[in-house]
Amino acid sequence: MNLLTETGWAGGPVAEPPLAGEVPCDVAVVGGGVGGMTAALRLAESGADVVLLEAQTCGWGASSRNAGYVTNSIAADPALLALLLRREKVRALFQFAESAVEFTQEAIASRGIDCDFEKVGIVQAAVSKGQLRKARRNAKIMAEAGSSAEFVEGPGAGLPEGFLGGMREGIGGTLNPGKYVLGLRDAVLASGARVFERTQVRDVSAGTAGVTIETAGGRVRAKQALLTTNAYGKDLAITPRRLVSPVWTSLVETEPVSPERLDAIGWTSRAPMVTAHMILESYRVTPRNTIVFGTRRLETTRGELAARTLSAPVVDDLVRGFRERFPGLSDVAPQRAWGGWIGMSSTWLPVAGEAAPNVLYSLACNGHGFAQAQYVGSMLADRLSGAPMPDDLKAIWHDGRFWPSFVSQPALTLGWFGDRVLDRLARI
Ligand SMILES: Cc1cc2nc3c(=O)[nH]c(=O)nc-3n(C[C@H](O)[C@H](O)[C@H](O)COP(=O)(O)OP(=O)(O)OC[C@H]3O[C@@H](n4cnc5c(N)ncnc54)[C@H](O)[C@@H]3O)c2cc1C
Repeated sequence: MNLLTETGWAGGPVAEPPLAGEVPCDVAVVGGGVGGMTAALRLAESGADVVLLEAQTCGWGASSRNAGYVTNSIAADPALLALLLRREKVRALFQFAESAVEFTQEAIASRGIDCDFEKVGIVQAAVSKGQLRKARRNAKIMAEAGSSAEFVEGPGAGLPEGFLGGMREGIGGTLNPGKYVLGLRDAVLASGARVFERTQVRDVSAGTAGVTIETAGGRVRAKQALLTTNAYGKDLAITPRRLVSPVWTSLVETEPVSPERLDAIGWTSRAPMVTAHMILESYRVTPRNTIVFGTRRLETTRGELAARTLSAPVVDDLVRGFRERFPGLSDVAPQRAWGGWIGMSSTWLPVAGEAAPNVLYSLACNGHGFAQAQYVGSMLADRLSGAPMPDDLKAIWHDGRFWPSFVSQPALTLGWFGDRVLDRLARI
């Protein structure tokens, strides 16, 4: 069976026309993922004349391709953060992530976005005693930092057999990201923001006369600009170098599984799960009773991002992982697979900052950015409107330091290999 598809959760909408000619505006937003769309919406609703430029159609990138976890965790391991950073900094980061979830939940409710949101929390689930210890420790660290997380263990947790327990995040849950981006895009189009799709930005330059944005069919002259291109930031010369590397992440969806079978394997809570591996595995049930699972093996490139398609060995490895974790569902067939680019930083922390005078950027939510990219987009929009910098934005503001990038294909493969060795040791 050919599992490789490119569609993600929802088909693409009919595109808005591309940019043609010269267009003046107050603020230009480059990149129409959830971050850019949220920023454009915020700016338009505050009365600014906004132009949003998207290379494909809005939501086409990671924003529609993700696993749909609305999570208050950040990619970096809480224990490592607690070890390396000041206590106030750790608290500020968790507060930022928690605010991001609340922001997204509020957007869903107030805009009435139909996206199958289920406010069920997420469990960082343990598949070994070592992971269970890690989950217990992380729950303690997060709770001490003021974040909603609790340790759960044993059959009462309602996790599938083989999952021993874990850390349950107290807020957030899951949704259908394809439906969400379509709803958000409708709101942007209705807001008065001018949206140009199939419009790849080739260059952004800032000077005393404002910001000039070049595309194949035209040019935007803006007073200010916001870059929300995520992993694709490396393709624009104005984006700070060495902050973020593109990493390809993949998901697989099974055929529908009956509720009785999920009960029979002990997954009575239906809690969406991510494992505590170095490179996580995720497993969730969708409203159409399929199981979506992913990550495990990550890939990077120094080349062009646009033409990327899934690689069969990565999908095979994901399916192998599913079979190992869910022996009671060994006959359940995978039906399709897809993937997308995330932006990964060396610190595993999200980052925002100023690329040039009047040009702000948001980058690198490290695969945890569905809620966070939106919240950052909104805060950056307010900042461009002259608002003071909130603490949540200060928590991720780039301090000017550059860390050497650990993201290379050998390092990512080594991470995967280390996880498999620990899996094997756990079975002995
Ligand atoms: C497979 C997968 C699973 C994931 N799972 C989760 C999850 O469960 N929970 C979670 O929180 N996060 C998850 N993530 C990460 C999350 O999806 C992203 O962090 C988030 O969507 C980033 O949003 P964004 O708006 O910053 O970027 P994107 O959605 O990547 O949007 C960037 C947009 O910019 C456009 N663009 C780029 N360059 C240009 C240019 N030069 N000109 C014009 N437009 C340009 C692109 O076409 C794209 O549409 C996952 C990601 C992937 C790929």
